[in-house]
This record gives sequence, structure tokens and C-alpha cells, in this order.
Amino acid sequence: MLKKLRKEVCRLHAELPRNHLVTWTSGNVSGRDPKSGLVVIKPSGVYYEDLAPENMVVVDLNGKVVEGSLKPSSDVYAHLYIYQHRPDVMGVVHTHSTFATAFAAVNHPIPVYLTAIADEFGGPIPCGGYAKIGTDEIGRVVINAIGSSPAILLKNHGVFTIGRSVKDAVKAAVMVEDIARTVFYALQLGQPDEIPAEEVARGYRRYQEEYGQ
Ligand code: 13P
Repeated sequence: MLKKLRKEVCRLHAELPRNHLVTWTSGNVSGRDPKSGLVVIKPSGVYYEDLAPENMVVVDLNGKVVEGSLKPSSDVYAHLYIYQHRPDVMGVVHTHSTFATAFAAVNHPIPVYLTAIADEFGGPIPCGGYAKIGTDEIGRVVINAIGSSPAILLKNHGVFTIGRSVKDAVKAAVMVEDIARTVFYALQLGQPDEIPAEEVARGYRRYQEEYGQ
């Protein structure tokens, strides 16, 4: 079932350790199949090197396992709540990546101090409140606080990113760690200026509409 999506979600999981976003078995990625509405997600607590398209878990939007012999990710209800409330979202990623999670630990959103933040995120990275793992509570916080950003920090916990594809969500997870690292170092040197809102909007539009081939 959903052979192509299983393969894609599995392949994109490999980007998390490759980009140093996860340790041991932390973090998870899911993707939604547009036709059936079913979601493919990581099995809980499995080493990244042991992930394979065949051991991904297929769940419906209520969390019922439709195919798979392993337990789905402990964050499955967070992912499903996001899919239920954001029909535009086709991929969700969760990590505890170090620098972004350091901001989350102290409940600090990341202002637009860098053109890379304007380009990729179009505004500050918000920080949502504390939420319990294992229920849809995390999903509620994400939906209430993420706004139009593809990324959100969760107080005392880590990062959630969303995208119109699984790859977009994974890219946002890579980018949020990259900018969090730069902002962390910048804050050791002094107080950066925020980029004005109209310049943020211009940069975002240019990057989204004109950048690349
Ligand atoms: P899972 O292995 O259950 O996906 O848990 C990883 C994690 O990061 C929980 O927050």
C-alpha cells in the first residue's frame, strides 16, 4: 500500500541524521497521500539505519493503523491533528535539533534577523506553549501558533515543520536549525537588528517566486 509515499517518507527520514538534526531515535517524518487521505509515518523508536519503506506505518486520520506491524511514532496524533486542520499540508517533521531547541527551551521565538529567515519563513519563527507528548495537544499548539510559518518551536521540547510536500517540510527542518545556529552565534556578539516587515515580504516573495531555475 502507498509504495511510492512509503519510499519517499523513508528516504527523507535519512536527511535528519545526515543534517545532524536528530540523535538516536528522536524525530519523525510523515507524509499524506492526497488520494486516499492516509498518512505514512515512522515507526516509534526504530534506529534510523533500520528504517525501510516496508516498516513505515500507514494510518488513517483518526490514528487507526491501516497497514504495518510496528507501533506508529509517539507523535502520530500531533501529525494527524495538523493534517486534519491544514488541508494544504502534505508533510510534517519533528526534531529536537540542537540550536532551534535551545530557543524552544527558553521559549524564545526567532525574529527575522537574517535574509535567510525572510526568504524561507517569511516572518519570525514562533514559539508555541508547552504540550504533552503522545496526545493531540502538540497538534493543537502547532495549529494555534504556527500562522503562515512553515516552522514552529515548542516550549521545552523542539521543532515542528510543515510543508506542501514531505520534502518541503524536511527542508524547513534543515533551514530552521541552520538559521537558529547563526542567530545563536550572532547573539553572543551583540544585538542584531530585525529586518523591516516590508523588506521581509519582498525577500520572501523573491525567494519563493524567482529564486532558482
Ligand atoms: P518516535 O520514535 O516515537 O517518533 O519518537 C521520537 C520523538 O522525537 C518523540 O518526540
